[in-house]
Order: sequence, then structure tokens, then C-alpha cells
Amino acid sequence: MDEDTTERARPDSEGTDDSWIRSVPSGGPLSGERDAASRRTHVREQANGSGSTDDERTKREEQFSADVSKSDNRGRSAERTDRKEETGTVFLVGSGPGDPELLTRRAWRRLRESDVVLHDSLTGDRIVDQLPESAEVIDVGKRPPQRTTQDDINELMVERARKAEDVVRLKGGDPNVFGRGGEEAEHLASEDVPFEIVPGVSSVLAAPSVSGIPLTHRDRSSSLTVITGHQTPDKDESAVDWGALADSVEAGGTLVILMGVNRLPNNVRALRNHGVSCETPAAMVQKATWCDEKTVAGTVDDIVAKSRDAEIESPAVTIIGDVVSVRGDVEEWLLR
Ligand code: SAH
Repeated sequence: MDEDTTERARPDSEGTDDSWIRSVPSGGPLSGERDAASRRTHVREQANGSGSTDDERTKREEQFSADVSKSDNRGRSAERTDRKEETGTVFLVGSGPGDPELLTRRAWRRLRESDVVLHDSLTGDRIVDQLPESAEVIDVGKRPPQRTTQDDINELMVERARKAEDVVRLKGGDPNVFGRGGEEAEHLASEDVPFEIVPGVSSVLAAPSVSGIPLTHRDRSSSLTVITGHQTPDKDESAVDWGALADSVEAGGTLVILMGVNRLPNNVRALRNHGVSCETPAAMVQKATWCDEKTVAGTVDDIVAKSRDAEIESPAVTIIGDVVSVRGDVEEWLLR
């Protein structure tokens, strides 16, 4: 992962109420879920039948939940015993932007059932603190001095799976958005290790949303481009086509830049040089959903100075385009 993905901070709000997590059936992979879902539908249909009182309905629902949990747990332990002789499964799981409540139910379930969790630094302490004690937790955040290389991580996933362990590889946001999920999937496939991908809420979506900035808007933007700001725009070999990006912003599209704190001045200059108007609205959202979340909004002309004054640090998302001005209209009523 690039250098500016590595900062950590500790969100200050209370841990999430995870009582619902325990009521999620913990059955084996997807077929188990489908069975549970159809049992649930069946019972709900019965519970909603004519003549049922509210008390009766509640009792049936409670009995149903208990039955589903019991039968799914039975299935799960039988499955685990059988599988102990085999290769384990690797789950490439997105942890969302950092707030534990933004992890999906499936992500929590995979975590609860795992033998080992390999997490990166973007996962955030609030989630790491809630990882189940039953799992071995390994921080593979690529921070110096204990830098874990991508090769080390690949090797670790395969090694643990070959010991018949279920491994969760927990990554910030979504595993497949600048998260090397594709590379890890390719590696697992090449080593014959079965894996599942559990999508997460990417910071691409979460950071603008929590700040009141829609990515699209019927009157303001009909397209969205996401880039890494880590490329050097000054170099000829830049993989990002700044001319095309500038055209798309000028045509009213939204541009989202990840990993772009350190190179913000270069990136903004590249956009300006390729014709983006200095009045174009721009914003940066730092550590979305963490305790030190911070948003600054301005224009392409002043966003560099404003982010410097506000001491915006990585990880942060930059948003450029007309959609940013919506924040000004809604901010007062936006609860954070
Ligand atoms: N897979 C991640 C992105 C990894 S690249 C995802 O889907 O979100 C790392 C970059 O993501 C950071 O440099 C930053 O630009 C962005 N990022 C990740 N989490 C963030 C957060 N909570 N707030 C703001 N930006 C974040």
C-alpha cells in the first residue's frame, strides 16, 4: 500500500452495539444462508397469518430465531470438523471506512468464524478492538519499521490456509478499490487456495457521503471518476490521463482522488494546466467516520491552502466538481 494509507487514529465514540451480530445465523457459506433465509421467510409467513395476536407472533419469531441459530450452528461445526483435513478458506473482507457499524453483517460473521485475521492499518483501532478473541490477530499494516511486504502477506495467507485455517484478510474500505484485492485473489488462485471476496463500503463512497457531498446529482454531475493521487502528474509515464480528467471535470463530472494528500499541490496544478476552472468546487475529507474526521471545502484555487491551514492528514479523500457545493446547502442540518 502506498505511504499515505498508513496513519492510525483512535476513534473516540463508544463501541457499536453488536447484539444483533450474535443473532445472525452463523451457518456455512452461501447455501446455509439461503436455507436460513427460506426458513425465515416461511416462519414469517406463518407468523403473519390471519388470527395471530401480537404476543403469539412475537413468541413465534423468538422461537424461530433460536431454531435458526441452533440449526445453523450445528451445520457450521459439522462443516468445520470435516474441513479440518482440508485447505482452509481465505476471505478477502472489506472493513469499510473505519466505523464498526459500517462493516457488513457478512464481514462480522466471517470474522467471528475465522481462525486468523490479517488486517491492515486502514482498518482502524475501533474495529481491531472488537475482533473476536477466538481468532489470532496479525497486523500486517505496511508501516515501517515492521514493514510487511505484499509477498509476505501472500505467503502468510497461503501458509495458514494450508494448515486448514480460515483466514480473514481484512482491508480498509473495499478490498478491490486500490486495495490489492485483485493481486491477492490471483495469488490465491495460483496456489489453489479457495477464497471469497466480501465487499466493503469504500472510502470513495463513504467520505463524500458523510460530509454531505453526493457523488452524483441530477443537476450537477452524471459521472464519477476515481483515481490515485499517488502518481506523479509531472512525469510523462503517469498512468493517469490528466487531460481527459480535466475534460471530464469541465463537462460537469465528479473526480475523487485517493491517496492524494502529499501530492495535492501537484495534482491540482495538473488539473489547472489542463483547463479546469479555478472556481471549480473542491473538498477534502480526512479520516471519514473516525473520531478525527475533518472536512474542508473550497475551490480548486484555494483547496491546497485550506487543507494546509486545516492540517489535513492522510488518509483523506479529495472530491472535485460541482457536487461539492451541495455540502454548503445541507451542512447545517447534517448530523455528525
Ligand atoms: N480500499 C480502500 C482504499 C485504499 S487506498 C477503500 O476502498 O476505501 C487508501 C486511501 O483510501 C487513502 O489514502 C485515502 O485516500 C482513502 N481512505 C481510506 N479510508 C479512508 C477514510 N476513513 N477517510 C478518508 N479517506 C480514506
